[in-house]
Amino acid sequence: MKNAITRFAPSPTGYIHIGNVRSAIYPYLIARQTGGKMILRIEDTDRERYVEGATELIEDTLKWLGLEWDEGPIIGGPNGPYFQSERLDIYHAWVKKLLDSGRAYADPTPAEKIDEYRRECSEKKIPFLYRNYRPENPPEWEPGMPIRFKADPKEREWVDAVMGEMKAGPEVQDDIILIKKDGYPTYNFAHIVDDAEMGVTHVMRGVEYLSSTPNYLAIYEALGLERPVLVSLPHILAPQGNKKLGKRDGAKSVTEYRDDGVLAEAMLNYLACLGWNDGTEQEMYTKQELIERFSLDRIQTSGARYDETKLLWMNGQWIRRIFDEQGAHALYDRTAGFWPEEAETYPEEYRIKVLSIIYDRLKTLSDLREMTRYFFVDPEINTDTIKTNKFLKKLSEAELEDLLKKSISKLSAIEDWNEDNLQNALNELLAESGKKPAELFSLIRIAVSFAPFSPALNLTLNVLGRETSLARLNAVAAAI
Ligand code: GLU
Repeated sequence: MKNAITRFAPSPTGYIHIGNVRSAIYPYLIARQTGGKMILRIEDTDRERYVEGATELIEDTLKWLGLEWDEGPIIGGPNGPYFQSERLDIYHAWVKKLLDSGRAYADPTPAEKIDEYRRECSEKKIPFLYRNYRPENPPEWEPGMPIRFKADPKEREWVDAVMGEMKAGPEVQDDIILIKKDGYPTYNFAHIVDDAEMGVTHVMRGVEYLSSTPNYLAIYEALGLERPVLVSLPHILAPQGNKKLGKRDGAKSVTEYRDDGVLAEAMLNYLACLGWNDGTEQEMYTKQELIERFSLDRIQTSGARYDETKLLWMNGQWIRRIFDEQGAHALYDRTAGFWPEEAETYPEEYRIKVLSIIYDRLKTLSDLREMTRYFFVDPEINTDTIKTNKFLKKLSEAELEDLLKKSISKLSAIEDWNEDNLQNALNELLAESGKKPAELFSLIRIAVSFAPFSPALNLTLNVLGRETSLARLNAVAAAI
């Protein structure tokens, strides 16, 4: 395969969620892999479903995921305009070819009449096919009249790159509308014209269009067009049940995940592998690896189930990977807006230290908000937290106080406050007190953080610093 021309052709009808962004990823990968192009085309001909701002959201989402388009809104290109609403002349010119060749007709039938036909069929329990009611002498087209395709119903066979060999009979082929009453084209017609005009070689879209494909084949044929490679992408399924992932199943918009601290790398990786694998056990892929390994024939034919837990796991892996491979600063650069408010007055250097000891526990960057608060503000002391802790509840108040005092004196004696010296002091304390690590370390951990967990104790104390650590231990000893 060389120079594949693919497209992502969303309708600006709202936010772009997990379920639909995959139809941008695969076309992107194929375009990059083959040295071709990906076109972004905005299918905004359904004026009733149009949502203000939806196009910007689409662009924003693609940019964030790193799916740069080669032609389309903002950047332009030789096949523009890239908004269907600006291409009406083009559709009218193409439909004229069909009107002239007798393969389309203007339809003056009033809507009530069509309803009547439909009722008639439903009473007789036969499928409603408009072609059986096709007007005999259609008039010249004038504005306000829809234009329909004149079907050529017959057995049709085709190959879908994912679904394999397909076949359909005449019963699914009908006189579908090409141009609506309002003069706008239907999706069914517009996408065929645009794909042809834009030189699209691979039509990759949701499997919901598979059932209409016989009608599309008839239109390609009537227009003398070579058919592109057809690629039906199976649905992404809701976490439960056998249905397509939708808003009600918590399908958040892709940018909401970004705002919740999911990294673009993780989102891309997760979605690309939802319903595709390269035949190995590998789970983590960079964009470059995906470009190299992706192949249409390994897209699975059944729906892939959306699993947010897996996405978040993968995000945690990516957070670690960025830190480990690119360093603390590179990860830190991604964290703006995710710190607790109180962190703002602290120097960057301190926040980087905090990040460096906590990053391997993050599932999302927004975990920073809760997980690091005690590094920036003294926690509220609640002695019950200590007294009811599962490791500490056996100890009396006097024992707890004594243990805290011993800890304070041991830690105060450290000359050079660093990770290693802290670890040594903690080990000595353990030996001298005869307590179990879970007891001693839980007590100190809770006293300095009042958080459900913290990084290794010596690292936590090191970052908090001598003064803060000892002040907090003293305050708790006094409160017990
Ligand atoms: N505008 C269609 C949609 O958003 C796109 C289908 C296609 O890619 O052709 O579902």
